[in-house]
Amino acid sequence: MKQLACNECDLLIKIPELVHGYKAICPRCDFVITRFRERFRTKLLALSFSSLVFLALTLMFPFLIFTAQGRERTVYFLQSLKGMGEDTYFIVVLFMIITTIVVPVALMVGISFVVVSSRLSIGLPTSRRILKLIFQLQAWNMAEIFLLGILVSMVKIASLASVEFGWSFVAFVLYIATMAAMRIYMDKYQLWRIVSPTREAR
Ligand SMILES: [Zn+2]
Repeated sequence: MKQLACNECDLLIKIPELVHGYKAICPRCDFVITRFRERFRTKLLALSFSSLVFLALTLMFPFLIFTAQGRERTVYFLQSLKGMGEDTYFIVVLFMIITTIVVPVALMVGISFVVVSSRLSIGLPTSRRILKLIFQLQAWNMAEIFLLGILVSMVKIASLASVEFGWSFVAFVLYIATMAAMRIYMDKYQLWRIVSPTREAR
């Protein structure tokens, strides 16, 4: 049994061996310390790969199609990112590209590396460094904020033009959904365990 301090109240807790669906809760403050899900590594790998595919599709197809007075205009994803920052500053566009594309891609590539390296038991010190970075970067993954921004501006545009969703929009929603599903399996305790060589036999 491994001892761990509770994130919330610092109580030292012995974490028992968990089976699928079970969680370890702090007896003092009810904080969920870890949740064990069977085959979480395979699921994380599959979800990272799917989100990368959905992102590629998002960038390839038309995002939104506007029609006004018989004229049609097709907007691609990157154009809409640029468009949102046009009236403000270049720094806003840069911030959106970082939080919507760069950070999520880094997270997905990083998590794939961690999972594969733990399976093959190679490069574990590098995996530990990457894992630390992943948990620091997670707060900067804000793709869903962009989706919210798009929906808000669409409400405004709807009175001026008719708006149609392109295939890229569907792919972008799926991109956000797969990333949200990934968060379910991003259990700190379980992930640190698979990259620590001193882990107990499972
Ligand atoms: Zn606690």
